[in-house]
Amino acid sequence: MELSLSFNKKLDRDWDVVIIGSGPGGLSAALYASRGKLKTLVLEKNFTVGGNIALTSLIEDYPGIKEATGEEFAKLLKEHAESFGAVIATGEEVISVDFNSFPRLIKTRNAEYTAKAVIIATGADPRRLNVPGEEEFIGKGVSYCAVCDAPFFKDKNVIVVGGGNSALDEGLYLTKFARRVYIVHRRDQLRADKILQERAFANPKIEFIFNTVVKKIEGDSVVRRVLLFNNKTNEEKYFDIDAVFIYIGLVPNSSLFNVEKDERGYIITNERMETSVRGVYAVGDVRKSPLKQAITAAGEGAIAGYFAEKFVEGLG
Ligand code: NAP
Repeated sequence: MELSLSFNKKLDRDWDVVIIGSGPGGLSAALYASRGKLKTLVLEKNFTVGGNIALTSLIEDYPGIKEATGEEFAKLLKEHAESFGAVIATGEEVISVDFNSFPRLIKTRNAEYTAKAVIIATGADPRRLNVPGEEEFIGKGVSYCAVCDAPFFKDKNVIVVGGGNSALDEGLYLTKFARRVYIVHRRDQLRADKILQERAFANPKIEFIFNTVVKKIEGDSVVRRVLLFNNKTNEEKYFDIDAVFIYIGLVPNSSLFNVEKDERGYIITNERMETSVRGVYAVGDVRKSPLKQAITAAGEGAIAGYFAEKFVEGLG
């Protein structure tokens, strides 16, 4: 894939702004900061850019982009930020930051950087079900990424766990490959947007199993069955299945950062996207916010990029 494997040449140590993470929030911040003439570095731990959005099957709710795959969309964001001079370094996992020093110190596995302003755009990882068998069968039928793994389950029966936008979006995507997609949800009301609910209910390959949780995942070399528990009837039953795709929400990647957070670990900012530390901003899925979308992350990135520029300018 075209976005992969950029080996970084030796990069400068000192930057105006370092952005950690290259999802829509990080890349939009990079665009605004570099267009504002800040010397801008984006550090991305993966060898591909885009974060979770690059693994999304279909983007159809970003203004101006009627339809794109996540990978296509990420490529557009990357090229746009680079066109203003932002440097995007992939395979650069940040392992520590020091916000007590100024300029701020950021260490990756490979190098050390300083920045006058930092924008945290580290996103969030899929939440685990934490049931027996989940860990053991990752890559053998347990997956958190339909775009990556759906083709392995052509004409097979799969379960999607969850009732939010991700579960329905990716459940619909899975119907292109699987014979049958069972969406297992712990309640009988879905959290997903109405438009996705309508599509899922209308899809003949999708069947909903409500008021039910997965208690156990079993198999041999691959997943073979799950133990389902109906929390209305208290009935337990084994259900034969070839794969389990888990979409039960997100956990913010905020543990490295010593800034104010809410009880779930989401970073708290003011309206300028500034955290409790001056000149340190947070955007996108890692930030406490009422709506988590590519477009809101991009908007937050624009605000952070703009105010990071004002902050650096103010330093004289
Ligand atoms: P989400 O909206 O938080 O939904 C998580 C779902 O998983 C909920 O239905 C929840 O059930 C269920 N759940 C949570 N913990 C569970 C557990 N331990 N066992 C079983 N079920 C559990 O998460 P998401 O769907 O991953 O989406 C994350 C964010 O990205 C959301 O803000 C979403 O709107 C956004 N997003 C948007 C789009 C789009 O607009 N196209 C696409 C994907 C994601 P309850 O409903 O009972 O709480």
